[in-house]
Amino acid sequence: MISLTRVSVEYGDKVKPLDDVSHTFLAGTTAVTGPSGSGKSTLLRLIAGVQSPKAGTVAIDGEPVGRASWFSAGDPRVSVIYQDHRLVPFLTVAQNLSLAVESRGAKSSADQAEAALARVGLPSSTSHRFPGSMSSGEQQRVAVARALAVGSPVLVADEPTGALDAENTARITDVLLELGQSGDLTVIVATHDMSVAERMDQRIGLGAGRLLVAA
Ligand code: ADP
Ligand code: MG
Repeated sequence: MISLTRVSVEYGDKVKPLDDVSHTFLAGTTAVTGPSGSGKSTLLRLIAGVQSPKAGTVAIDGEPVGRASWFSAGDPRVSVIYQDHRLVPFLTVAQNLSLAVESRGAKSSADQAEAALARVGLPSSTSHRFPGSMSSGEQQRVAVARALAVGSPVLVADEPTGALDAENTARITDVLLELGQSGDLTVIVATHDMSVAERMDQRIGLGAGRLLVAA
C-alpha cells in the first residue's frame, strides 16, 4: 500500500502540480491520467523516491520512501518503466536484467531472468538477443521483465505505451494487468491513452494541483 499524505510539489512560485494531495494506492493496477503538464511524471517520481515533495510524506507499507539525493537511484521497493524502454544497447537482454539486479546489490541468475521473461510472454531464447534486434513492443516487454527481475513490490510506468502501436499497447497493458492481478505487486501507470486507463482496476486524475478518484 502506497500512501501520499498532504503532498505538495512546487516548481518556481507558479507551477504547483500537486497541492496538498492525499491518496492511498491499493495493490493491483491504478491508472494516473490527466493532460500533459498535469503532474503525472512528478507523482511517479515522488513514489519512486527520485524526487522529494516540498511538503507532505510518501510511504510504502508505512515506511517513508527514501529521500531523493544525487547519490540515490531511488527507493529500492520501486522499479520504474519509461516510455522509451531504456535498455542498454550493447548488452544482451540477460545482461540488461542482471545489471539491474546486481546494481541493487543482489545476485542475478539465469533462472531468475528466464522467469521474468516468461512473465512478460518472451521465450528464454530472448536472453541472448540484443535490444536492437527486437521490435519496440518486445523491447518494452524486456523493460518490464527487467523491472520484475529486480523484485520490487511496486512498479511505476510512465507512459509505457506512448511509443507503441495499438497492438503492442494492448499487449503491454495485458502484461501490466496480469502483474497487478498476481496479488503481490502494486502497479501504477501514467497514461493519456483512455484505452489503457479504462482497463486498470482504479483510475485517478490529476489537474490544477488536485487528485480526483475517477469512477
Ligand atoms: P505530466 O507528466 O503530466 O506531463 P509533469 O509532472 O512532467 O507532468 O509536469 C508537471 C508540471 O511541472 C509542468 O508544468 C512541468 O513543466 C513542470 N515541471 C516538471 N518538472 C519540472 C522541473 N524539473 N522544473 C521545473 N518545472 C517542472
Ligand atoms: Mg509525463
